[in-house]
Amino acid sequence: MGLRVTGVLDRARLGQLWDRESSRFVDSHPGSATLFGAGAAHLTGGVPMSWMSKWPGPFPVFVESAIGAQIVDVDGQRYVDFCLGDTGAMAGHSPAPTVAAVTAQLHRGITTMLPTADAALVAAELARRFGLPSWQFTLSATDANRHALRYARLLTGRRKVVVHDFCYHGSVDEAFATLDGGRTVPRRSSIGPGVPVCETTIVVPFNDLPAMATALATGEVAVVLMEPALTNVGIVLPDAAYNDGVRALCDRFGVLLIIDETHTFCAGPGGMTARDALRPDLLVIGKSIGGGVPCGAFGLTADVAGRIERAVALEDIDVGGVGGTLAGNGLSMAAMVATLTEVLTDEAFERMCALAQRWSAGVRAGLEGAGAPWHVTTLGGRAEYGFSAEPPRDGAAAAAADDFELQQYLHLAALNRGFLLTPFHNMALMSPATTSADVDAHTAMFAEVVGELFS
Ligand code: PMP
Repeated sequence: MGLRVTGVLDRARLGQLWDRESSRFVDSHPGSATLFGAGAAHLTGGVPMSWMSKWPGPFPVFVESAIGAQIVDVDGQRYVDFCLGDTGAMAGHSPAPTVAAVTAQLHRGITTMLPTADAALVAAELARRFGLPSWQFTLSATDANRHALRYARLLTGRRKVVVHDFCYHGSVDEAFATLDGGRTVPRRSSIGPGVPVCETTIVVPFNDLPAMATALATGEVAVVLMEPALTNVGIVLPDAAYNDGVRALCDRFGVLLIIDETHTFCAGPGGMTARDALRPDLLVIGKSIGGGVPCGAFGLTADVAGRIERAVALEDIDVGGVGGTLAGNGLSMAAMVATLTEVLTDEAFERMCALAQRWSAGVRAGLEGAGAPWHVTTLGGRAEYGFSAEPPRDGAAAAAADDFELQQYLHLAALNRGFLLTPFHNMALMSPATTSADVDAHTAMFAEVVGELFS
């Protein structure tokens, strides 16, 4: 069977291994197969949200329980969960302090359209961590991004948004754009755009300050919406001067800067913003801060908050395109207070970051052992391997190195051996509940799987 020249992947071999792992998956997941079949009549594509089909294998595993860093499926199979709900469960699944706070709140009212005392506590904690004094709440990071964009247009009187090539900020219309020979075009996956995306968006490559300057110099740009490191096309780290350079350009051209910390929060208690002393005008966060209970938030500088207050009339405030009936509800607020103050603590981040380093070292050793010419990148409590020798410097390079077939295989092989990775890329995220034993078990599994692939 062995058929490889060092460092070269054999596609035929990959196909055989895929068939073997698919059979193993089907044989060992009869309960999930049955539930998938039962749901097919009334769930579009057999799943509650279309992207769940992207898990490797012919159907997703159905969850019986998710506690800490472990998931148990309906067939009794156990997994170390490095996906953690693609960051939604970065605090670990059902962390005890969050469960206690949410349970207490469940008995006191879930949603009322009125504030609870927790609201001010969460806002103060986010202000302490990220350095922005003024906060608003949503039910998702997507909504927070949408609202931040609307406010940025309102304040600048300009229409366009600059985003990075191969960014992801949730289902935000303006961000489904990519570059084609320097032109901004719809991203391949964009479903039903309302207007041609070149009317709303200018795309620039990550780590390209001259391109950013050219875009901002058009005078059409209201706002730059960016992650301070790309995390949705694999991890792409910023060059040393990049984030400060973007800030300086925004200042020069009177453009607002939104930093989306939804994923990069993994870099530390105040995300990359606090770690690297970044200075956004607006900051978006979501997913993890409620321990898995739906919530999102956006922070504003005092200047931006003041300008918004002066610009929006009380009479019209509920129908201006920024809102959400359930936003700021008591349940989300209780979840955020507990998660931020008792679970995602400074000490938890220290451990998560150390575990991500350990995971990366283990994967690197596996790659070296197999002669696989891939790289590993670490960002705080998150780590990822990618199928190119050098870490990419922009989204296009990261996307070019992607290999869907190979990725699906590696994820399925890992799943069959008790490890879940996020279905969209080769990311592993650490939670406060993740242990070094979990990481070391992954290291051993990875060496076996990648070694077989290249032998
Ligand atoms: N921002 C970033 C950077 C994200 O990665 C995501 C989702 N992956 C979002 C925003 C949107 O989060 P949600 O789907 O929870 O609204």
